Amino acid sequence: MKVASVIIDQDAKALDREFEYLIPDELELKEGERVMVPFGARVIQGFIVEIKDNSSFELTKLKSILRSVDGFPVIKKEMLALMKYMADKLFLKLASILRLFLPSEMRTGKVKELVERYVSLNQDVEIPKNAKKQAVIVEFLKQHGKVKFSEVSNEFGYAPLSALVKKGVVSVSYEERKRSVEFDKISGEKKALTPLQQRAVDTIKENKTYLLHGVTGSGKTEVYMNLIERELKNGKTALMLVPEISLTPQVLANFKARFGEEVALIHSGLSAGERFDEWRRIFFGEAKVVVGARSAIFTPLENLGIIIIDEEHEQSYISESNPRYDTHEIAEFRRKYNNSILVLGSATPSIESYAKALDGEYTLVEMPVRVNGMEMPKIVVVDMLNELRHGNSEIFSIPLLAELGSVVERKKQAMIFINRRGFSSFQRCRECGYVAKCRDCDVSLVYHHYENKLKCHYCGKRYKALDICPSCGSRNIKQGAIGTERVVEELKRFFPGVAIFRMDNDTTSTKGAHRSILSQFRETKPAILVGTQMIAKGHDFEDVILVGIVDADQSLYQSDYRSIERTFQLITQVSGRAGRSKDQGKVILQTYSPRHYVYHYAQNYDFKGFFKKEANLRKVTNFPPYTKVLRILFSHEDENIVAKEIKVCYNNVQKVKEKFIDDFIYLDVMKSPLNRIKTKYRYQILMRFKLAHAEEIEKELFACVDKKAKSSVFFEINPQNLS
Ligand code: ADP
Ligand code: ZN
Ligand code: ZN
Repeated sequence: MKVASVIIDQDAKALDREFEYLIPDELELKEGERVMVPFGARVIQGFIVEIKDNSSFELTKLKSILRSVDGFPVIKKEMLALMKYMADKLFLKLASILRLFLPSEMRTGKVKELVERYVSLNQDVEIPKNAKKQAVIVEFLKQHGKVKFSEVSNEFGYAPLSALVKKGVVSVSYEERKRSVEFDKISGEKKALTPLQQRAVDTIKENKTYLLHGVTGSGKTEVYMNLIERELKNGKTALMLVPEISLTPQVLANFKARFGEEVALIHSGLSAGERFDEWRRIFFGEAKVVVGARSAIFTPLENLGIIIIDEEHEQSYISESNPRYDTHEIAEFRRKYNNSILVLGSATPSIESYAKALDGEYTLVEMPVRVNGMEMPKIVVVDMLNELRHGNSEIFSIPLLAELGSVVERKKQAMIFINRRGFSSFQRCRECGYVAKCRDCDVSLVYHHYENKLKCHYCGKRYKALDICPSCGSRNIKQGAIGTERVVEELKRFFPGVAIFRMDNDTTSTKGAHRSILSQFRETKPAILVGTQMIAKGHDFEDVILVGIVDADQSLYQSDYRSIERTFQLITQVSGRAGRSKDQGKVILQTYSPRHYVYHYAQNYDFKGFFKKEANLRKVTNFPPYTKVLRILFSHEDENIVAKEIKVCYNNVQKVKEKFIDDFIYLDVMKSPLNRIKTKYRYQILMRFKLAHAEEIEKELFACVDKKAKSSVFFEINPQNLS
């Protein structure tokens, strides 16, 4: 009798290990299958991660697996290997990793209803003599026409049936109406590559990681599509990741137009059903190209030829909620596993990635000019303190107003970018400085003008807006930062009658809103589009000749070692929206610190100069990529428990530090800045250490956490924010 190692699909930390079960002779189970198993008095779901001939326990003590849930392995071999890798390297619970690999619908038991698959004969072909089972299936389908997939696979076996599907002999169809994803219709016409693009396509061909550094408008998308086409021709599949916010209808339409039914799209705008449909098409090999946001890195594409991470510097590639992972690392694993190509593309690579390219770990491919030979838009830095000195206390500087006026006159288009990171639109008392905070989370509340309400962005709780300061009684209450709505109002005042569109989280929360705003803007001239980070990348509007950056400093003074890098990236990306067609573009950048070096390099599009300066600074101050920042976060509803448990862990960590005393730069334990979120108290151990023994140190750190701790414990490497 065979023995299966099963991971139980439950959250409890104590259950986070492999349990052994007997496989009854009548069940033909495989690694990766979902199964129902007896557990205590209950019957629960688990995953077979390994099948063995023997057990270290007495076989008579083992319980038996009751049944298979799907009748075939839903976790493929590669993903099982990935699970082991992630568990080893990232301190994650096994069950939480496995859940990443499946659409959430599959966990709720609804999958049976959704998977009413049918098979029918597609073409009559000779089946090789040794494939007897396949021949029997073909004969069966000849007689019966369309039959339920499960019926055939139960009768004749899953393996021969899926082999026939793969060969295209048998086609699969689904009972319910297919939900199809909406996208703009455009032509999929191929463009003749420029010499630079051609060189990039020719260079990128080996099982390596390439960093494609191409300025905005250099035509990276066309390069990606050519690379993907080549892989498809070789019978391989392709995975392309883009940041969620640049998953624009335009990008999707481009891929649909070029690759048709072979593309599956995975993004947050999909309903649960649509997401499941797409996943299923990928799983069964019907879709060969996947375009999606971060989580698409886990899609079960087989025979992967190329992985592309566009805008590779984007922070959204790092998952900061559970489970925590960095998409780059997962992509590296899949590249090696599949012997495929990995391309990281960006106009502003991250300092980390560019350093790796200079070290030879990545292969650098450069596209330093725009496709149409257009010059990069001219960036004008405007000193807002100077504006104040000259009596202008408006949001807009005189140069920006003048340029906007000219755009309107010429019936062109402009974009106004509001650099709003985090929770900057708070309400504050001008007399005493009081700022309203959430009672549960201890963070500033965000003022929502439209509803005249204060909201907590961590727990979603809503509060009445302030009109009298609860601390001093003053009525002099002011909003903290400039928001999109405010800017729209001001623009209407200066340019009555001109079409003004707004794009931010509030205006794009409904399905299709994103797409509709963009297509309206595209049709209207003159027009001004006001938006947050959402408008910063990916868009390609011919008539946008002006970009205004209202308050560039917003991202500059965050308490985070990456804030300058981010500011540089943002300016470059936003500026890249202007002058992409016939007319030279212009950018007006408003700042209160015009002499900061980041503006100097950004203004000259000097990425290399900026990299040198910034990398040097990081080296001198001992920050990544030359060291690692690591946070161990504990959280629990009972503050005494977190405080006690983190102390135990901290004592252990101190021993690790003593052992690697030359590597440690910093180590401390503290309350998290956001000390309480969703009624849970948060404490953290923060540390920084050199790279030389990083892997050993991390392994030892994992062992510092008591497996029986009641708190939730998270490890974060180079976290994006430490709040
Ligand atoms: P990037 O992603 O590098 O900023 P895009 O891929 O958006 O640049 O390309 C910029 C513009 O150039 C797009 O409108 C695209 O359709 C166009 N383009 C790309 N390659 C070519 C080409 N070989 N010939 C003509 N136009 C091209
Ligand atoms: Zn007050
Ligand atoms: Zn809250």
